Amino acid sequence: MNGSGTGPISLTEPLTGGCFCGAVSYALSAPPTMSAYCHCTQCQRLNGCPFVHTVHFRTSVFGWTHDGGADALDAFQNPSKPHKTRFRCKKCGCCVASFNKNTNNTSVWGAQLSRSQDGRIMRYDIVKPTAHIFYGTRMLDVPDEVTKWEGYPEKSRQLA
Ligand SMILES: [Zn+2]
Ligand SMILES: [Zn+2]
Repeated sequence: MNGSGTGPISLTEPLTGGCFCGAVSYALSAPPTMSAYCHCTQCQRLNGCPFVHTVHFRTSVFGWTHDGGADALDAFQNPSKPHKTRFRCKKCGCCVASFNKNTNNTSVWGAQLSRSQDGRIMRYDIVKPTAHIFYGTRMLDVPDEVTKWEGYPEKSRQLA
């Protein structure tokens, strides 16, 4: 887990990311509060993949950097989680961030963070996952050294 819980530490250079076509971009001025592989059934269905690398930040450290801000995006409110709004690029359709009104958290996906010329995610040391969450509903086993939880880290049963 990153951070001491006493407030975000500013980064000297922000973390950046965006959608596939480049029309939508964002920056984050502090390290994540959580970085994990999420195996929940919502992530599986919303993204069409077995699990995602989700990276959570306080909303106060998140900002859109493309012209038009949120107006340039489509928004989707999940009926089963109305406190969450997911934003999608209107052009390429990539979902790039999800805002949680209740917790004031914003999550982005590790795969959409900026990459260096060799294709690697830049500053991976800061955003590297430290847990597998909702591992009980996994579609495949991941035999790595990272801790595995039934729900959120420290708030649910540890599975491995
Ligand atoms: Zn796009
Ligand atoms: Zn999930």
